[in-house]
Amino acid sequence: MIRLPEKAALLISQLESHGHEAFIVGGCVRDGLLGRAPNDWDICTSASPEEMKRCFSNLRVIETGVKHGTLTVLAEGEPFEITTYRIDGEYSDSRHPDQVLFTSDLREDLSRRDFTINAMAWHPQTGLVDPFGGARDLKRGSIRCVGKPEKRFREDALRIMRAVRFAGQLGFRVDAETDRALYQCCPLLDKIAAERMRMELDKLLCGAAAEKALRDYREIIAHFIPEIRPMFGLDQKNRHHIYTVWEHTVRAVSQIPGKPLLRLCAFFHDIGKPDSMTVDEDGCGHFYQHEILSEALAGQAMKRLKYDNDTQETVLAVIRSHSIVFRPDSKQARRLLGKLGEERLRLLIELELADVKSQNPLYQEERVANISAFREKMEEVLAEDQCFSLRHLAINGKDLLCLGIPQGPEIGRILNVLLEQVVEEALPNEPDALKEAARKV
Ligand code: ATP
Ligand code: MG
Repeated sequence: MIRLPEKAALLISQLESHGHEAFIVGGCVRDGLLGRAPNDWDICTSASPEEMKRCFSNLRVIETGVKHGTLTVLAEGEPFEITTYRIDGEYSDSRHPDQVLFTSDLREDLSRRDFTINAMAWHPQTGLVDPFGGARDLKRGSIRCVGKPEKRFREDALRIMRAVRFAGQLGFRVDAETDRALYQCCPLLDKIAAERMRMELDKLLCGAAAEKALRDYREIIAHFIPEIRPMFGLDQKNRHHIYTVWEHTVRAVSQIPGKPLLRLCAFFHDIGKPDSMTVDEDGCGHFYQHEILSEALAGQAMKRLKYDNDTQETVLAVIRSHSIVFRPDSKQARRLLGKLGEERLRLLIELELADVKSQNPLYQEERVANISAFREKMEEVLAEDQCFSLRHLAINGKDLLCLGIPQGPEIGRILNVLLEQVVEEALPNEPDALKEAARKV
C-alpha cells in the first residue's frame, strides 16, 4: 500500500474522468513500497499531451517536454510531472532514443524503463502493475535490468551509473547478469554528458550505502574519475593509517553527514596522496602537502564533471585546509573564521572528524576530543560576536580618513594589520586604542 498525496490522487481522478488511464510510476512506486519518502510523484497516462492540456484547462500547465510527452501540472502550486505512455525508438548513440512514440499500453511504457524496481506503476484502486518482477527484486534487494542488460546499457549508458547509484542509495546488490554487463559496457560511459554523470555521482555519494557501493564499483567510478585509481590498494605505511588510501576514503565518505558538499569533500580529500607519498629510511610513509595536490586533482575532476563554481570553490578550499591541526584555542578559531568564513570552517570540522574516524582507532579519541574542543571555542567566538573580520572591527575606513590617512590602498592595509592584532589579542577592539595604534602602523 502506498500513501498517495491527495493532490496526486486528484490529478489521476481528473484524467480518468476524461476517459484516460493514469498511474503513479517509477521512483515513487519503488520508494513508496520501500516505505521511503519519494523525491517526486511522477504520473503516467494514456492521454496525449494535447488531451492532458484539455483535461487540466483549470490548472497551470508547464510544457516541460511536450516532445517526450511530459507536462508539469501545478496542483495548488505543487508541481507534478505527467507523461504520456511512450515507447523509445532505436538508440544509435548510447544516449538518446532517435524517436519517441506514444502508446496507449502501460506495459509498453514500463518496458522502456531501466530496472525492474523502477518499472512498476501503481493506482489507488487497481493496485500494483508489475510485469517484470520489480516487487520481488525489491524484496530481494536486487537491481536488475528490464530486458537484456547489455542491450539496455548500449541504448543508454547512463543506466550503468544509475545501477551503481541505486546500489549506493538502497544498499541493493546488482543482479549477476546485469553486473557483468556493467563492466562490459563501461567504456560507453564516455558518451554520457558530464552533467548527467555528476547528478548520479552526487546521489551515489549521499546514499546510505555509499560505503559498500564505492568499494564494490570503484572500477566503474574510476572509468570517469581515473584520478582515484592510484588510491586503490595503496598501503600508507604509517602507524596513523591502518587502511589503504582508497579504503580510508570510502570510510571517510560514510562517516561524514550525507550532504553533497561534505560527501564531495570526503571523496576527494586525499586524492593527491598517491603522488605525494614518500617513504623514509625507517620505511614510514609521508604525504607532505598532499592537500595541495588533492586540491589540484579534485579541481581537475570537478571541472570535468561541470560542478558549478560555488561548489568547486567551497570543496577545494576545504580540501586545501584539511591538514590543519585544531586546538581548543579561541585565537585559532578567530583566525580560521576570518580566513575561511563560518560555512567553510564548519565543513572543514566535519571533514576532519570523518578523516580521523577513518584512521587508526588508537589515536582517534584524543584527536576527536581536540576537534570537538576547537568547535566549542568556535561556537563561543560566534556567540559572543568576537572580532574576526573587518566588519567586527571597532573602527572603519572613514575613521582612518578622519585621522588624516589619505584615501587609497593604505587604508585597507592598516585595517587588516589592526584586525590581525585584535584577533591575536595584542590590541583591544576599542576605537581609541585602535586609532592610537593606526598612527603607528
Ligand atoms: P530519484 O529518486 O532519484 O528521483 P528515480 O527512479 O525517480 O529516482 P528519475 O531520474 O526521477 O529516477 O526517473 C524516473 C523514472 O524514469 C525512473 O524510475 C525510471 O523508471 C525512468 N528512468 C529514468 N532514467 C532512465 C533511464 N536512463 N533509462 C530508462 N528509464 C529511466
Ligand atoms: Mg524521480
